[in-house]
Amino acid sequence: MTHPTDATCVFCKIVAGQLPSFKLLEDEATIAFMDINPVNPGHALAVAKGHWPTVDVIPADVLAAVARTAQKVAKAAMTTLKPAGVNLVQANGPAAGQSVPHLHIHIMPRRPGDDVSLNWEPKAGDRAEIEAIYKKLKAAL
Ligand code: 5GP
Ligand code: ZN
Repeated sequence: MTHPTDATCVFCKIVAGQLPSFKLLEDEATIAFMDINPVNPGHALAVAKGHWPTVDVIPADVLAAVARTAQKVAKAAMTTLKPAGVNLVQANGPAAGQSVPHLHIHIMPRRPGDDVSLNWEPKAGDRAEIEAIYKKLKAAL
């Protein structure tokens, strides 16, 4: 299958075998490997083989394939490592924490008291503001 590539992209290099990785699995559209800077033991990445930076530009079937791969890795992490919890995280843009502009889903095992800062305290929102934004979003779907 042909897919877009970017010669400067670290994940494209891993997909092409030009950079080493601890590869967990591979299928036609995706690859999964261990993250080189794990936030917790078992932190892995499910990655599209093609170079699509973000969720708005990747074809829906490829995104679905990345999600399937992330699920397989998450299940393996749950049964093998028995973490207290697992986050699946997918960032779009530097403001969302994306450092590699090649779509990927993090599989992050969690343990109590780890300092991974993904959790937030729920604070009551303004109902009118929620409704106004809801109307804008709904009109775009
Ligand atoms: P992002 O910040 O874009 O959501 O996540 C990118 C992830 O890729 C980071 O967690 C980072 O540790 C990981 N990463 C960056 N370069 C490499 C690499 O060369 N090999 C591996 N295995 N992971 C990498
Ligand atoms: Zn890439």
